[in-house]
Amino acid sequence: MHDPIGPERRRDLAQRGYSRRDFGRLAAFLTAGASLPFYNEATLAQGLSAMPNLPSDAVRINANENPMGPCPEAAEAIRSIVSQGGRYLYGETTKFVETLAGVEGIAPELVLPFAGSSDPLHRAVLAFASPTKCLVTGDPGYEAAERAAKFLGARVIRVPLRKDGSHDVQAMASADPEAGLIYICNPNNPTGTVTCKSDVDDLVANKPKGTVVLLDEAYIHLSTTAQTGTPHVTAGKDVVILRTFSKLFGMAGLRAGAAFGRPDLLERIKGFGAGALPVTGMVGATASLKAKGLVESRRKIIADIRNQTAEWLDKKGYACMPSEANMLMVDVRKPGRQVFDAMVKEKVVIGRVWASMPNSVRITIGTADEMAKFRSAFAKVMNA
Ligand code: PLP
Repeated sequence: MHDPIGPERRRDLAQRGYSRRDFGRLAAFLTAGASLPFYNEATLAQGLSAMPNLPSDAVRINANENPMGPCPEAAEAIRSIVSQGGRYLYGETTKFVETLAGVEGIAPELVLPFAGSSDPLHRAVLAFASPTKCLVTGDPGYEAAERAAKFLGARVIRVPLRKDGSHDVQAMASADPEAGLIYICNPNNPTGTVTCKSDVDDLVANKPKGTVVLLDEAYIHLSTTAQTGTPHVTAGKDVVILRTFSKLFGMAGLRAGAAFGRPDLLERIKGFGAGALPVTGMVGATASLKAKGLVESRRKIIADIRNQTAEWLDKKGYACMPSEANMLMVDVRKPGRQVFDAMVKEKVVIGRVWASMPNSVRITIGTADEMAKFRSAFAKVMNA
């Protein structure tokens, strides 16, 4: 009978503390694919499935999407390739990798392309965490890694963010000498807060030997102060970086992303599956990377709307964490779930609530018009 795991990976898994029972689950995952619960903003976005009657004009500021969508250059590149979509067109993926590597100033061998970053995020957990190798994550943080770790039977250590919303890198580095993976989201989801370069450097220098640091840079283009960890990748450290085109580049539904890392680390991620990537996503991402001034102009548009929204909320007495991304974590001074439900009745769907901050809600930055609708609904709900 075909062994979907294979003797080499079986040995690796046994060394990483997987039992025979765990092998069964992994084999099911590798053959059926769908049996690994898959988490991303869309599936984590609270209650959407319970709102089948949501009107089409409802404001959706719940999933950190970008209402601007793909830039005109990306849209044009996608339109032009569609008629050739009967072919795999692997060359477009190569062009994407080379363009991205060029923009980042790293070697193309350090870039592994994906259809978004959820895929490599899940794979990194599969590759580096296990029943004996825990996942260390910030709290509140993006939940996908934690959920995947729990599926594997890997222990999860949540380390509270510092007061300023940065990751407590010293506590994370010393959380477990046997940790498999330390996950840092920079800027962080759901708070939009930044962990500065010296803290990331500190973590990479002081983490346990063999532990991999996963730097999720989904929102990095939206920040003016967060710095990429790519120098650690170039220096051959135990660091994997995730990038996505779902945020500033507005391609969440089109799908493009990448993992950066040492070739041997990328090989371990790759081992759990592979396939052709959607050519529409690849050409859209390449065109986005080449669009002059796109990052700066979109960053400013989003920052202006975010700062206006935060100022308005602050004046009303609702403090926000210092975000540098397309989201605001707002202290609503009562159970966030109540505010969420009341806002849905006003046709404004806001983000979910995190257990460690039950009186806060996450609000994605929409268009100026959407945020005006948010403000009137929020004022009505909070005054009720
Ligand atoms: N990482 C973080 C922190 C996110 O917030 C998201 C999506 O919201 C992702 C990764 C995955 O995004 P995608 O799979 O669309 O690239």
